[in-house]
Amino acid sequence: MSARILLVDDDAALLDALPEALRLRMNGIQIDTSETAIDALERIRETDYDAIVSDIKMPGMDGLTLLREIRELRPATPTLMITGHGERDLAVQALRGGAYDFVQKPIDRDYFVASLKRAIQLRRLDREVEQQRLALERHARVLEHVDDGVFLLDDAGVVQHWNPAAQAITGIAPDRALGRPAAEILPGWEAVAPLIPIATAPTPGSVEAKVVPLELDGRELWLSISGVTFSDGVVYAFRSLTEERALEELKGEFIATVSHELRTPLAAVYGSAQTLLREDIDLDEADKKRLLDVIAQESERLSRIADDILYASNLDSGQFALGEKRIDLRALAQDVVEEMRACFAARQDISIELTISAVLDPVAGDPDKLRQVLINLIDNAVKYSPDGGRVEVAIEPREGGVRISVRDEGIGIASLEQRRIFGKFYRVDPGLTRGVGGTGLGLYICRELVRRMEGRLSVSSDEGKGSTFSVDLPLAAAGTEAAAVAQTV
Ligand code: ADP
Repeated sequence: MSARILLVDDDAALLDALPEALRLRMNGIQIDTSETAIDALERIRETDYDAIVSDIKMPGMDGLTLLREIRELRPATPTLMITGHGERDLAVQALRGGAYDFVQKPIDRDYFVASLKRAIQLRRLDREVEQQRLALERHARVLEHVDDGVFLLDDAGVVQHWNPAAQAITGIAPDRALGRPAAEILPGWEAVAPLIPIATAPTPGSVEAKVVPLELDGRELWLSISGVTFSDGVVYAFRSLTEERALEELKGEFIATVSHELRTPLAAVYGSAQTLLREDIDLDEADKKRLLDVIAQESERLSRIADDILYASNLDSGQFALGEKRIDLRALAQDVVEEMRACFAARQDISIELTISAVLDPVAGDPDKLRQVLINLIDNAVKYSPDGGRVEVAIEPREGGVRISVRDEGIGIASLEQRRIFGKFYRVDPGLTRGVGGTGLGLYICRELVRRMEGRLSVSSDEGKGSTFSVDLPLAAAGTEAAAVAQTV
């Protein structure tokens, strides 16, 4: 046991004999001695001993006074007092004064050594605890100053630490966060949490942070977040993606989507044209027609993609005029549904139904743009129903306006994706949508158009069961049209 202790006694014989006995029984122990309390105090000031052993009865400053001084100077150092035989009162006084233990003369060496070992052990543990406390304080101070939001969730998902950056990014103060489940303070956390990569050790680069959306007080935050597990739970570190970063990401996504979307029709056009040009194979008229059809269809798709991109960019730059008109929803919806039925005539597995409520007031908005929105929603409903089913378009009055809903029985949309699909160029992983092509601009354009008509486009969906997209439009300012009979067209 490598420890350093101080032995204080005015009895020179004891100061000679006791250290020898201790060294024999305690390996590596280092023992200083003092014959007076004054000398001892000097040493104690200089050295942080693991334990101090002092006689109580000494000329000049006695042991109890020395004990008081030690308690002042080195409150953590355990002090053993040596009392004369039968001096119970002094022993009790020593314990009251904060002594760790006492031994009586003649000294029972076994007891003395055992007690001293315990004292040294205690001091060692004390030091370790103190060091850990300092390290923790240091870590906490570091956490207070990092730019990343850091929070700790215990095994029950309750917030146990919430640093100032977490407050700055989310706007949630520590007293609102601490002691409460993450799911309560971060709306959408339950859906987001399983997506966050969690490392088992904090090695750099061991997991890639995931970008997830969280809606806080009505504003959407995009956080880049990852976690590390440790014995008490999971520590999450996150940063908010600035608008620039989010734009950068969108740009990257845009380029990837556009080049992917362009490549497929281009390949079809190129392949068909090349085949038509070949002289080594004989093509009959029917073959030629088929190849020309492919070229025509795929070129049309290319131009649709270009149109979408241009349209979205016009919407963004404000170069966009909205005709302020009243809409005759009934006629418009019937027309659109007819058109879509014709368009998807080949899809025998799909039926497109229209239900219009008996009483319907005219709504405000631009009929051409609403037509575009409905075509897009019905087109999606069919596209994302690869196994067929009913597509129901319903129009009904609703709190100061009218709701047009397009319901399908298709693949549905996971709850986390539901907010994201309205983003520009956002497409659910093609693996999940069974590879249906698109630009990811359709819903963005729809939502913008509806918003400009003072309306709202929303979605509700059950993954695997189907989706319902709803357009809520306000009523036209004055006059109502005569109610018609309820009908299913
Ligand atoms: P696109 O269809 O061109 O990819 P949209 O903006 O119209 O782009 O839609 C974005 C994403 O939303 C689609 O990629 C698809 O994953 C999802 N989505 C849209 N409508 C539906 C629907 N009715 N059912 C299931 N998923 C849909």
